[in-house]
Amino acid sequence: MAGSSTGKVPIVYRNEYNIGFLGLEKLHPFDSKKWGNVFNYLKEAIRGLTEEKIHSPPEVTPAQLLKVHTQEYIDSLTKSVNVAKITEVFFLAAIPNFVVQRRVLKPFRFQVGGTLLAGELCMEHKWSINIGGGFHHCSKDRGGGFCAYADITLCIRNILEKYSSRVKKVLLIDLDAHQGNGHERDFLGDESVYIFDMYNKYIYPGDMEARAAIKKSVELFTGTTDEEYLLALRSKLQEAFEEAKPDFVFFNAGTDILEGDTLGRLSITREGIIERDEIVFRKAKEAGVPIVMVTSGGYVARTAKIIADSIVNLKDKGLIHMDLD
Ligand SMILES: [Zn+2]
Repeated sequence: MAGSSTGKVPIVYRNEYNIGFLGLEKLHPFDSKKWGNVFNYLKEAIRGLTEEKIHSPPEVTPAQLLKVHTQEYIDSLTKSVNVAKITEVFFLAAIPNFVVQRRVLKPFRFQVGGTLLAGELCMEHKWSINIGGGFHHCSKDRGGGFCAYADITLCIRNILEKYSSRVKKVLLIDLDAHQGNGHERDFLGDESVYIFDMYNKYIYPGDMEARAAIKKSVELFTGTTDEEYLLALRSKLQEAFEEAKPDFVFFNAGTDILEGDTLGRLSITREGIIERDEIVFRKAKEAGVPIVMVTSGGYVARTAKIIADSIVNLKDKGLIHMDLD
């Protein structure tokens, strides 16, 4: 990595992340241009931040995907009906697979490439953010809940392998409203990954088998508000850092905890989300541990601006440094 990222900010994004065709955005309760909207808001808010200043990731390769996925699973994606089930966009079943590959799976594969790249940039810069990724319901042999590739597993495995002398223990903090059953299934019994998951226990996926992989969990009730959420986060995150003693932090920063998000069904405000991200980044900084963030779930229209505002807040608080001169 050295040299290649000189003068760049460890934010990862490219236009190819965005999905948008056949009125998908109208049929699914879903801002399918969320990732582009986040970047546009960031460009407006941060002077000097341009496409040239961030990292444009390559598409994840088939060989890289096979480091995590079974061939059988990858092959299953060549049937549109399976992609329709995974994304819960059922009309995709009727679309020729080459179109589904190009318009839906390819954007996801760029986002997976983004998570992989962000993991590596993080080792160099101490922080990084992939504006996409965070497909936490996908495991090596099963997709679901809009997640077709296991980018979290792939990124963490890559870091543990490539930086084995520096990274022995990863703390995976999953604060999306849903339980992260994909990476949990993949890391079940793996002592090198400590999973902290805070989720609404009354919604999808309710995966009891995967829950066995969680080292620290906070099970939330529908309608949980800022005060109780942030109180629980502060105390349990502290415990997680003490118990895990991590060398690397992976933060799955889903924003479907937002009030009004009908999928997450929690009642966290915009300010609550911004404070949440600040708490996590501050903790990593205090511990001197690199942290990579991905954006995961949260697709209501207000979400993109909140993610951008939160990144700006991290910058303003000195928790992430951007060299933009
Ligand atoms: Zn979610």
